Amino acid sequence: MAQSVEIVTIGDELLLGTTVDTNAVFLARALGEIGVPIARRATVADDEHEIADAVQQALERTGGVITTGGLGPTADDLTRPVLARLFGRELREDPAIVAALHALWASRGRGGALPPSNLQQALVPEGAEVLANGQGTAPGLRLTDDQGRWVIMLPGVPRELRHMTATHIVPWLTERGSGTVLRSRNVRTTSIAESALAEKLGPLKREVEGLPLAYLPGHDGVDLRVTARGYPAAEAARRLDAAVAQIRDAVGTYAYATDGVSMPAVVLDMCLVHGDTIAVAESCTGGLLGARLTEVPGSSRVVLGGVIAYANIVKEQELGVAADDIEMHGAVSEPVAVQMARGVRGMTGATIGVGITGVAGPDGGTPDKPVGTVWIAIDVRGEVTTNRAIYIGDRAEIRHRATQVAMDLIRRALLGMAT
Ligand code: AMP
Ligand code: MG
Repeated sequence: MAQSVEIVTIGDELLLGTTVDTNAVFLARALGEIGVPIARRATVADDEHEIADAVQQALERTGGVITTGGLGPTADDLTRPVLARLFGRELREDPAIVAALHALWASRGRGGALPPSNLQQALVPEGAEVLANGQGTAPGLRLTDDQGRWVIMLPGVPRELRHMTATHIVPWLTERGSGTVLRSRNVRTTSIAESALAEKLGPLKREVEGLPLAYLPGHDGVDLRVTARGYPAAEAARRLDAAVAQIRDAVGTYAYATDGVSMPAVVLDMCLVHGDTIAVAESCTGGLLGARLTEVPGSSRVVLGGVIAYANIVKEQELGVAADDIEMHGAVSEPVAVQMARGVRGMTGATIGVGITGVAGPDGGTPDKPVGTVWIAIDVRGEVTTNRAIYIGDRAEIRHRATQVAMDLIRRALLGMAT
């Protein structure tokens, strides 16, 4: 097993929550890729004692610490002097960094001389290695003590952090590492509950190919994630591929994609293969389905357009929904959804029309149509499928889930058809 590492992110803004700590997440993923376990993460204020305490404790536990932030030119940038002191080293101005700072300042055309405070960034603790930044002014630093314990200081700016992770951290840790990786893959499912998935998975429900299985429910459905930890890259890939195939096999058509592929991307691909085009008529989702579909680059080859038919008058006049049906069954009803789907298909000439009408809440529910009730109809070349469900969650969740089901209905309809 590789040596584990701790991450200390530094900055008041992280504790206040005004800046999201994306650096810690980015580092965790990058280190995971090369099989270096993160034992712990801490976030501390721009405060000498807090920084020194956090790094010292982390060094005692694991002997390897990566910090981000606090390397800039202002008074709140304390990482460099605090860690120099912790390691008992003097700070010395590095002439090469001074020259580079002057050159960078001039190249940015800001005019005038480099403000003296910038020279803080040229201070290097005795014996530290300087890690070139490549994207900004503050170089990173690596300090190692006589027991081989080390701390690497990286700048807080995410772009610089990402660049330096690739150029310094990953190569250095890979060289010292165990040659194993940590990799995950996902099988994405929708319209099925976690417990029902576990039933379907049977003996695979906890472990597949010796890899632990995690259930990650979200707005899109449940993602099934397998993780390979501590294997060489080739063995990890073999096990993950085999695990994904077995999971897909067990859950059947509930699986719509793997890894980061979205439902809209899947549906658009299938439409391209089948030569289908889509038009949407949306009431309670107010254009969300159209937005999700058109978020995918290249969607113009499939999506023709749609109507946000929020008011009954729009459903009637634009889509040809019969006023009598609205009167008799209500706007949230099967006949209305069907006529919306048909209407928008006729209006645009699309091969697939979608109608969505429901109660997104928080108001407007009735005993027989509670908040979350949504009727969806899809008309695929004249063949109509309808679906009624009562979605749980707040307004945003209800709307999102309804669009997910609408796309899943299209996917299922096309799955059943020859290409
Ligand atoms: P610093 O190196 O501490 O001067 O940070 C420079 C800028 O980088 C800050 O103003 C933040 O916007 C950003 N930043 C610092 N730390 C983080 C972090 N952990 N995650 C994301 N952004 C950060
Ligand atoms: Mg800062």
